[in-house]
Amino acid sequence: MDRSKKIVKISIWGIIVNIILVSFKMIVGLIANSIAIILDAVNNLSDAISSIITIIGTRLSNKKPNKKHPYGYGRIEYLTSTIIALIVLIAGITSFKESLDKIIYPEVAEYSIFSLIIIIVAVFVKFFFGNYVKREGKKLSSSSLIASGTDAVSDSILSLTTFIGALISIIFHISLEGYLGLIISIFILKTALEILKDTINDMIGVRADSEITRSLKKKLLAYKEVKGVYDLTLHNYGPNKIIATVHIEIDDIMKAYEIHRLTRKITLDVYNEFGIILTIGIYASNDNGEYKEIKRYLQNVIKKYPSIEEMHGFYVDDDNKSISCDLIFNFEENNVNNIVSEIKEEMHKKYSNYNFDVIIDTDFSD
Ligand SMILES: [Zn+2]
Repeated sequence: MDRSKKIVKISIWGIIVNIILVSFKMIVGLIANSIAIILDAVNNLSDAISSIITIIGTRLSNKKPNKKHPYGYGRIEYLTSTIIALIVLIAGITSFKESLDKIIYPEVAEYSIFSLIIIIVAVFVKFFFGNYVKREGKKLSSSSLIASGTDAVSDSILSLTTFIGALISIIFHISLEGYLGLIISIFILKTALEILKDTINDMIGVRADSEITRSLKKKLLAYKEVKGVYDLTLHNYGPNKIIATVHIEIDDIMKAYEIHRLTRKITLDVYNEFGIILTIGIYASNDNGEYKEIKRYLQNVIKKYPSIEEMHGFYVDDDNKSISCDLIFNFEENNVNNIVSEIKEEMHKKYSNYNFDVIIDTDFSD
């Protein structure tokens, strides 16, 4: 079964489980006149709605790429995660208000053995099912599944507090309904904000997983022709759809056909091993003989600036009298242009018959 079918199947189970829980809890809550249990049911209802949206999102995101959307529709999953978060947020705000009302105008709840059994069974169902959904979500790297699984586990703990509240009201005859409701709503709000934060981060674009970038760089360095690997960027078009670019450094006497064979092989290998579509740019390297001395001089100049994290792509073009390199500054440095002029000046003093070109790169990956 493919990824999206599995996600849909798990989500359908989520809907069935939640609707059963909602029905039982609603009945128990209404009979016992317990706002805590009714809110718990409302919370489960929002989970069922989330699962429905997850299914719609997965269906849409699985649409085949076309001329207008050649990257496919994978990023729709970020949108559906946002909608789920907003639904949970609304449930949280409503619950908060209802609970405050109950604290101001308390009502006595009446629990029977039957209702206690229903509540505790619901706690276990929700806990184990939530963990199952979370585990599968991680396996399938589905942010929506992980979100709804995490939500279900914290819900089970909330349901447990309604059970304890019911026990306390039976034994000590005090009503904790409103306060329990408040705790429930705070949990609901917290879940909503967490899902929202993660999803928004994904949409803005976060630093690529350093585990992937490191092993990808290691893989490229293993080719004997590759002398250096730089400027690796990863672009996500939804989970499991990654497009990447990289610069590799090779000897400047390599012929076009040799470079062609090398980069073609790397592209295929990387796709087969990582499922990543990689575009490769070339840096030629000639830092031997007299040029080695120029490189060493440049390295010493750069040493004075601790905010420079990396220098690469060093090349001496003697025909056009130009020396060039790329610099990566850390994100804290605000004086990049001044530093570059200082370095250029310094280089010009020593190698006055050369032009010195610098390209500023961004620190995209580890
Ligand atoms: Zn570069």
